[in-house]
Amino acid sequence: REQRNKMPIYPGLERYQILEKMGDGAFSNVYKAIDKMTQEKVAIKVVRKRELDHSQEKHLHRDMKKKPRAIERSNILKEVQIMRQLKHPSIVSLLSFSESLDYYYLVLELMEGGELFHQIVKLTYFSENLARHVIIQVAEGIRYLHEEKGVVHRDIKPENLLFEPIPFVPSDDPSPPQFPNEEPKEDEGEFIPGIGGGGIGKIKIADFGLSKIVWDEQTMTPCGTVGYTAPEIIKDERYSKSVDMWALGCVLYTMLCGFPPFYDESIPDLTDKVTKGQYAFLSPWWDPISVSSKDLISNLLIVDPEKRFTINQFFEHPWIKDEPFLPNTPV
Ligand code: ADP
Ligand code: MG
Repeated sequence: REQRNKMPIYPGLERYQILEKMGDGAFSNVYKAIDKMTQEKVAIKVVRKRELDHSQEKHLHRDMKKKPRAIERSNILKEVQIMRQLKHPSIVSLLSFSESLDYYYLVLELMEGGELFHQIVKLTYFSENLARHVIIQVAEGIRYLHEEKGVVHRDIKPENLLFEPIPFVPSDDPSPPQFPNEEPKEDEGEFIPGIGGGGIGKIKIADFGLSKIVWDEQTMTPCGTVGYTAPEIIKDERYSKSVDMWALGCVLYTMLCGFPPFYDESIPDLTDKVTKGQYAFLSPWWDPISVSSKDLISNLLIVDPEKRFTINQFFEHPWIKDEPFLPNTPV
């Protein structure tokens, strides 16, 4: 039976009925599952304990956006240790953690919509209102991590931002489509009046596999504990939160135009562009997009981490602050 389903047996997961695979990386497989006791739907991230063997390599190349990442025992335990401390509407919560001889199991809050990445591919690009609806929720998660928990995520990207779709509610009331949904496109067939329908509802930050607890800039303490840390370590970590702000700028840029700010087939050339902060608001794609959104992006994609916007400056920017819609409040 194992052969036919191509599904390994996971000892210790008997409580769950595994439904389908939702994502896979170098060392992890993520499944949609149902808790047989409570009927609650969950996502289970299964992480192999052992090194990747050669039989897995072809599987890696199939999906080039998942780079093999060396996950050691300590890494996954760190991911779990950090996730256990987090509780916020914009952070995917860890429901439980267990292990068997060969695997670690992270039972996670299920995000039915999957990756923001796929939604960008599907819609090509987002309206400014939809992009704002998404980025504010992500930024609220980052503000919680940076300001309340001293955690830097370090891997913010559209593959690690997951969403809940807005359920479609048919209605006889032929009112116009509701924010944050897009206007129905002409080629999408008959327009059925109603609210919602597959658009992005709540969005949350996932994958704390590269996250780190950092030194507090003011108190110079890690999470409130006084240590014997050398000054160069504290200095090194002073701007570590700014890596998430750079990534936030990249995500916002990508949502608004449909392609990332930095791209090159050649890795050395790409590295060079990023190092120099060489990007542009390319015509014609960026022509109809607001000056204010470009100003915000320009303040996030600043090479000098000291000059780059912090999370609090992000929330003070007019494109965020003076916007007519608040997230999750359809008009
Ligand atoms: P990796 O470290 O391998 O990147 P992630 O935690 O990012 O592991 O999970 C890999 C993929 O699995 C995600 O990009 C996403 O597609 C899917 N996934 C992860 N967690 C969830 C979840 N809670 N709900 C739905 N899908 C998820
Ligand atoms: Mg990931």
